[in-house]
Amino acid sequence: MSVGQSLRSRLYRLNDTLRNAKENSRFYARHLPDLNTLRLKSINEIERIPFTEERHLSAGIEDFLCVPPGEISRIVSLFTSGSTGHPKRICFTGEDLENIAGYFSFGMSQIVAPGKKVLICLPGKSEYGVSYLLSLGIKKFGGLPEIYGIISDPNHAAGYVNEFRPDCIVGMPVQVLAMAECHQLGYRGHGPSTVLLTADYAAESLKLRIREAWDCRVLNHYGSTEMGYGGALECKFQKGLHLREMDLYFEIVDPHSGKSLSRREEGELVFTTLSRRGMPLIRYRTGDFTRLLPGRCACGQKLSRVSPPWRFNEGMFFLHDQGIKMSELDEILFSDRHVMDYSVSVLKMDSNETTLKLTLWMDGKSDRLDSKTRKAIASVLPCGTGADFAIAKPSDISPGLRGKRFGFLPEP
Ligand SMILES: [Zn+2]
Repeated sequence: MSVGQSLRSRLYRLNDTLRNAKENSRFYARHLPDLNTLRLKSINEIERIPFTEERHLSAGIEDFLCVPPGEISRIVSLFTSGSTGHPKRICFTGEDLENIAGYFSFGMSQIVAPGKKVLICLPGKSEYGVSYLLSLGIKKFGGLPEIYGIISDPNHAAGYVNEFRPDCIVGMPVQVLAMAECHQLGYRGHGPSTVLLTADYAAESLKLRIREAWDCRVLNHYGSTEMGYGGALECKFQKGLHLREMDLYFEIVDPHSGKSLSRREEGELVFTTLSRRGMPLIRYRTGDFTRLLPGRCACGQKLSRVSPPWRFNEGMFFLHDQGIKMSELDEILFSDRHVMDYSVSVLKMDSNETTLKLTLWMDGKSDRLDSKTRKAIASVLPCGTGADFAIAKPSDISPGLRGKRFGFLPEP
């Protein structure tokens, strides 16, 4: 099922994107059907347009460009989750970047009032980096942004919160949790009234701990570089994330057959850019799974809502053919108040015996998981799988504080 509203204008913009890509991008000149059959007469005909996949991007951006290289203002290199290990690159024109800042402005103005201070705890402080664009967006509606950068030392960040006294903090889930708990312990001063978590999956149990530390509301944002950073944002009613439908056309498809799914079924999120000039992407498979939520939100926005997307490749692993979601482990482990982060790997003893090794970063007040959490972990593991718990050395930096958390590490 396709996700959207204002279908007529959406159809017009889709056709415009398809034509532009076919005429100007070397990749889409080969990948898309010829111009005579390319034009969609109804939105449902998009199903006959082939998907763009992550592996296609590793061929090089030169093939994707729809403008002369001189018009590109920013190129972002990302390492792929696929087996090739080749970096993929995404590029934006100045107009594309302005458009991203415009979406950030729209989104942030939904959750922060003009004149309020926003502390940005994300990378990309340099010109046109993600923090820079977010800062630009916040200034557009009269908010007062301050870029802190990623939180590698939570205690220092907590001290900064006490000095700056932000009304809103934007950051990555595990990093903000660490900062919130340090702040509560060491300062007990003024905390933010709103926290926006982004760039990683945020478990409800983790959100609850931040909410309790600061007595604040905790919202989710979902996005990726391919989408132009912004993809979907939770509103204050917290009944799912509103999709960025003004700039992207979304579909939810069966990951195996590629067919559109009916309403409410969970599937892979696929998007087509509607306003990207430099490097449009058509039916791009995100590898993220979500489902459309029914009904209209009480906030009054017409944008469709989805459940929090979770990443298939890094967000899931298989034990004895049973899939285990990292989001499920997150939910259980962050419900233990002493767990600050963890990593997971699989130890294969022989063909029948498998052990899941969980390395835990604790808060220093406890050096073991509580029995309820241990039981909950055991309950999600398939028969024939045991769990082994290890406590990380205090000197080891946790995956979340390094920035990339979903590092599922299979061991030989
Ligand atoms: Zn809403």
